[in-house]
Amino acid sequence: MVTGRSHTSLLGLEHDEIAAFVEQAGEPAYRAQQILDAVYRQKVESAEQISTLPQQFRQDLEGQGVSVGWPRIENKFVSEDGTVRYLIAFADGQSVETVWMPEGDGGEAGDGSEAGDSAEGNRARNWDRATICVSSQVGCAVDCQFCLTALLGIERNLTAGEIVAQVCAVLKDQKVSPPEDRINLVFMGMGEPFLNYDNFMKAVRLLVKYVGIAEPRMTVSTAGIVPRIHDFGLEPTRPKLAISLNASNDELRSRLMPLNRKWNLEKLLAAARDFPLRPRERITFEYVLLREVNDGAEHATEVVELLRGIRAKLNLIALNPGPGIGFATPADERVLTFQKILRKAGIPAFVRRPRGRDIYAACGQLKRTVEIQPAMESQML
Ligand code: SAH
Repeated sequence: MVTGRSHTSLLGLEHDEIAAFVEQAGEPAYRAQQILDAVYRQKVESAEQISTLPQQFRQDLEGQGVSVGWPRIENKFVSEDGTVRYLIAFADGQSVETVWMPEGDGGEAGDGSEAGDSAEGNRARNWDRATICVSSQVGCAVDCQFCLTALLGIERNLTAGEIVAQVCAVLKDQKVSPPEDRINLVFMGMGEPFLNYDNFMKAVRLLVKYVGIAEPRMTVSTAGIVPRIHDFGLEPTRPKLAISLNASNDELRSRLMPLNRKWNLEKLLAAARDFPLRPRERITFEYVLLREVNDGAEHATEVVELLRGIRAKLNLIALNPGPGIGFATPADERVLTFQKILRKAGIPAFVRRPRGRDIYAACGQLKRTVEIQPAMESQML
């Protein structure tokens, strides 16, 4: 920051981009692979620590302002349920939230695809697999009326490197490394991934190729940016698709999600219907239930009609409340009634268990300025 020299972050670069400056330095081509391994797999702190490289080359890299590009973990909140909410800050001081959600109890025999050994050796742990919820933008421009992130407005897009760096920072902090450790990614953090499409897709490719997380283990959720749903269907390597539906008719959806005035339900569901699914794949629709607003039996019946002809599943999320949000959480039995109507119609419908509600880590609660109640401070690390 204080020097005037140019600055390159290795996290975020593809093989060809690294190969270019390896060549420029007059080093043999295989150095590019050594750098990739050191950065994405071993997660070294600095170029200086890439022990497979000659000392001189390491010093040259440092001298040229080449860094790994690690973001700073500015804060870390641990929930009663094991969820960890990270506040991750980038070079310009902007920050996003990234959430770690362990699942299972560690007692799973395994499905043969993993040996149970982690990068740490086979230490005991109390989870079988974990999901990382990843942010794609600082803030969000979409303005969904029930979402806390919307209150921030949009600050900026994340670069591909920053998206990958979030994942790597959490993996490093949790001392895990895929594919040995079973890690899923959901691009459901702060921001609208399809409004930062190119950076998001580059991050996906880097995560698949170099970090070792396969694309069927990833899901991206969009509020409904219809042209990008079409583009996404054409990608050779892509995560699974989730669409935030959240309402059963246009009048209601336009009220809850103003972007529905641009891409209404007809356009959105046409894109979903056209979406080229892989064998056995389904589109996930998310539906945030708001008390006495969109949670009635009549709404459930409308949803059944909307999803006709689409290989879909529905994730029902009872509203996670927050300051400044003018909606309430429905009673449990209304959620169950809603679910029953969908299931009766043959649509797989699941009630998503909120994770880390006590630390504002749950869906729609990622807002970096949220104040943690005093009781939570003892859990801040
Ligand atoms: N912008 C993308 C990615 C964020 S995903 C999208 O909208 O799909 C975040 C999910 O949380 C979305 O499905 C959204 O509908 C849901 N959500 C937002 N606010 C919520 C809240 N207060 N309680 C529960 N779910 C919420």
